[in-house]
Amino acid sequence: MKCEIIAVGTELLMGQIINTNARDIAKELLSLGVGVYYQTVVGDNEERLSNVFKDALGRADLIILTGGLGPTDDDITRETAAKVLGLPLEKSLIWEKRLEEFFSRFNRPMVEINFRQAMVPRGGKLLLNDRGTAPGIYLEAEGRVIILLPGPPKEMLPMFKEQAIPLLRDKLQGNENLAVLQSKTLRVMGLGESAMVEMIRPLLENQGNPTIAPLAKGAEAHLRITARSSSPQEAEELISTVAAEIRNVLGDYVYGEDEENLEFVVAKLLWKNGKTLALAESCSGGLLSHRLTNIPDSSRFLLAGLVTYSNEAKINLLGIEPGVIDAVGAVSAEVAEKMAAGVRRLCNADIGLSITGIAGPGGAVPGKPLGLTYLSLDADNLKFTNRYEFWGSRLEIKERASQVALNLLRLYLLGMLKST
Ligand code: ATP
Ligand code: MG
Repeated sequence: MKCEIIAVGTELLMGQIINTNARDIAKELLSLGVGVYYQTVVGDNEERLSNVFKDALGRADLIILTGGLGPTDDDITRETAAKVLGLPLEKSLIWEKRLEEFFSRFNRPMVEINFRQAMVPRGGKLLLNDRGTAPGIYLEAEGRVIILLPGPPKEMLPMFKEQAIPLLRDKLQGNENLAVLQSKTLRVMGLGESAMVEMIRPLLENQGNPTIAPLAKGAEAHLRITARSSSPQEAEELISTVAAEIRNVLGDYVYGEDEENLEFVVAKLLWKNGKTLALAESCSGGLLSHRLTNIPDSSRFLLAGLVTYSNEAKINLLGIEPGVIDAVGAVSAEVAEKMAAGVRRLCNADIGLSITGIAGPGGAVPGKPLGLTYLSLDADNLKFTNRYEFWGSRLEIKERASQVALNLLRLYLLGMLKST
């Protein structure tokens, strides 16, 4: 089954809102084994919407329209779709009653245009809406399945998942194109996307079912493995075989799967090892503390996260000698090292970790470029300090610094970090 998603709304065309509906619908369809071949965006204009809808009828079996089901004059999706299909609009008594109740409950006067929302193209099924006044519509015509959904995501998505998907599932029953599509994402850290691709080239070149798709994701790289099969169990097996082959090659560069982000994986390791942590952050402004405290129960391992931004804070709170900063500058290996050791001592923690760098856009000086960052990890059995040059905007540099710092923690806890 080939699907086209048509998002209707001039706001979308003008870039005032993002077409999250198309994304959310496409994601749901993926797990149903329906391929989305086209996504179209069109304004609230009858002629252009008609043309786009006719094109879709010519090239897709399932056409999903979202937006423009409201009561006002610029909401034209229902009428335009009915007109193109040559179907009369008939009043749904159920929805008319529902609208009357809705308006009287909220003490709002009901005017004639409100009744437009009770009109359904002949043969259409209503998709009920508990969260708004516009019902959706499911329709089969000209050998196609046509689904109309309201624009507001909070109304659209539950309606699609709870009512349209079951109807589509029934429709697909017995269709041999029906396949379960299932994916798993492997998260890779410490290897760039191209280095990762190089390492698994033979697997990529011989891929079939499942497919393997590499993606760059900020400071990490992801591999999405997608299997197509007739049953979820079989898809799961196909995926685990390939995932195991990839893990075999990439080893500990693979740090997690699906929703397991780096902070979650690090938190688990800290718990498992029974270690406590204290952070001294400068250019990352507390981002590392923020990320770790997003994990529930992080109080079990995180003792403190200090944002020692000024030289005075580094001197007064972390006990760094003023002469050191004068001599080598705040962004230096020495200061990073002393920050990590200082915060560990101050908090009596097992591990001290520090970040100091130049997040930009200003602040670069000869020999100290934008993005220059030092990270340091201090523990009883290990002292590690390293220099990095991160690139990107201020926020991206902060994110990369916090990401690499988390990876240092992970490697340390796995016993894979060596003293420098
Ligand atoms: P309403 O009854 O609210 O008018 P509607 O079905 O007519 O609903 P629209 O008028 O097209 O829908 O859009 C209403 C709101 O829904 C938009 O202002 C926007 O916030 C959101 N919206 C519409 N389409 C999309 C989309 N494709 N992706 C994300 N949000 C959307
Ligand atoms: Mg509207």
